[in-house]
Amino acid sequence: MQITKLTTQSVLPLTCSRTGSCCFGKAVMLNPWELLCFSKEKKITAREFRDLYCEFGGIRLRFNGKPDKKGQQACSQYVDNMGCSVHLGRPLACRLYPLGRHIQFDKAQYIYESDTFPCLNDCAEVLELPQLSVGDYLKGQGADPFEKAQDAYLNIMQNIADIAFELLLDSGLAATGDTKTLAAWREIGSELPEALAERIGQEWMDCLMIPNITDTTEDPIVFIQKHHDLLLLKAQEKFGSIQTTQELHEASVILIAIALHLARGLGANAKEISEHWIETAKSHGAKE
Ligand code: SF4
Ligand code: SF4
Repeated sequence: MQITKLTTQSVLPLTCSRTGSCCFGKAVMLNPWELLCFSKEKKITAREFRDLYCEFGGIRLRFNGKPDKKGQQACSQYVDNMGCSVHLGRPLACRLYPLGRHIQFDKAQYIYESDTFPCLNDCAEVLELPQLSVGDYLKGQGADPFEKAQDAYLNIMQNIADIAFELLLDSGLAATGDTKTLAAWREIGSELPEALAERIGQEWMDCLMIPNITDTTEDPIVFIQKHHDLLLLKAQEKFGSIQTTQELHEASVILIAIALHLARGLGANAKEISEHWIETAKSHGAKE
């Protein structure tokens, strides 16, 4: 897939013709803040939204609506002749489309996929509409808090992985000559999202995707900080007193699984990230 990189000054036919043709056959990934925003707009709980409308424990929006002419199924939130039923709560992926925000490790860049501007495939009339700079388009879409949320969750992803590194490198596990922990990190990087969600288990999945934060706020950064604290507290409760090498191995593996599942929900490439982490661990003395 060709990637065209953009800057905020790039000018493109970014006025939407509003046919909704891009609400079919897509993979819209979600982070926990986006899941909460959806549920608020829908006036149901995040748990209900996840169970009714999401896949893989909440990291992907379900596309199970009536198919279009090409046989691509509509988003679960798409209503015929009306469009998006949760427009104000839509996630970053929908706010950015036809643009994407490519995450490589911990950096983001605006892009579109393919060498042809994506709207031209389904809505060629956009060529007749006014052009916009990427920066103005993002402003009009209210993307800023959602971008901040994505970046804050990228930090959480790295922080969770850092604990997995500590359990491997600083606990003495790597020094025993352990090779199975990095082998498991590699396996997890290629694991299908449904299998990964199962590996993580319901308790951790709930803590990851529908954290019990009752005094919710409109500010994603405040919410995400609380979520971060909850995740660290849970890790402390679960792994604070483990001792055996088997326990250290299992804890390190489950934390990498959680970090990679979150990474997928952020639209990142889990395999690339796991390989990067494996190389980093090896450069600090771990073996595979
Ligand atoms: S494909 Fe582009 S122009 Fe068409 S509905 Fe989607 S964003 Fe709008
Ligand atoms: S959430 Fe709304 S904008 Fe996004 S794909 Fe679904 S219907 Fe379209």
